[in-house]
Amino acid sequence: MAVKELEKFYFSQTAIKTYLTCPLDFRSRYIDKLIWPSGYNKTEKQQAQIERGQVFHTLANRYFLGIGSQEKVEAGSEARDYLERLKDYLPVEAGIRYLPEYELRYNQDGVRLMAKFDLLYIDSENGEVIIYDWKTGDNQPETSYYQKDIQTILYQFILVEVGERYLPADFKPGDLKMIYWNPNYPEIEVEIEYSKKQHQENKNYLYNIIEEILELEYAEYAELTPGDKCYRCNYRPICEGEQPEESPVVEDDLDLDLDWEMLEEIKFYN
Ligand code: SF4
Repeated sequence: MAVKELEKFYFSQTAIKTYLTCPLDFRSRYIDKLIWPSGYNKTEKQQAQIERGQVFHTLANRYFLGIGSQEKVEAGSEARDYLERLKDYLPVEAGIRYLPEYELRYNQDGVRLMAKFDLLYIDSENGEVIIYDWKTGDNQPETSYYQKDIQTILYQFILVEVGERYLPADFKPGDLKMIYWNPNYPEIEVEIEYSKKQHQENKNYLYNIIEEILELEYAEYAELTPGDKCYRCNYRPICEGEQPEESPVVEDDLDLDLDWEMLEEIKFYN
């Protein structure tokens, strides 16, 4: 029998990405709820990197809300430097609607999805809508990585589907773009366009994945493990009886930790 309670679960980009990486990892986190404490299996340096990203996201949120709080963050600290770079990159302008840390949910046809946008930028006068996402990793992935990334697929899909009340009149999917920006590379904008055709493809893709997950029986997750991702996985002691190997923090780890901190995805809704 499929895992019944997942029918009420809102899938985030991290949950879907976890499933795509290893279904057993997904089962451990979201069904068995085997949660490790913040900082587990991280070196001090890695933990500091994760915390820096979290502070930056908080500062960015307050900046776009118009709440000045940067003076509480140590001058000269990396998080403060990140904020200064963000202000240079995206100065707040009159006439633009900024919605930071904005969450939207989609619930249709038995498919439940959620997105928490770092920033929605809505310029109704010029019909421009941008989803901004802040990255803070040391490495800057290629545009092709972000084009295929589940976060891009999910975020653009959800905004077009359920963002109507925020979007300009006569809005079309082609008016939307998503921009990834990393204060470590302030000159680089990774911009992903959108279209009606892409929207339909994204819908098909998301529906297929969710349908696949909802049909899985509990035991089947363990049969679908890819086997080549275990060396750095936190569940390795359970699956293989060995400690995970030390490896550099990648952007997905930073996203996961932000997500994990909020524990938003662990909630189930009626
Ligand atoms: S150790 Fe391997 S099989 Fe087990 S959850 Fe992690 S990636 Fe999946």
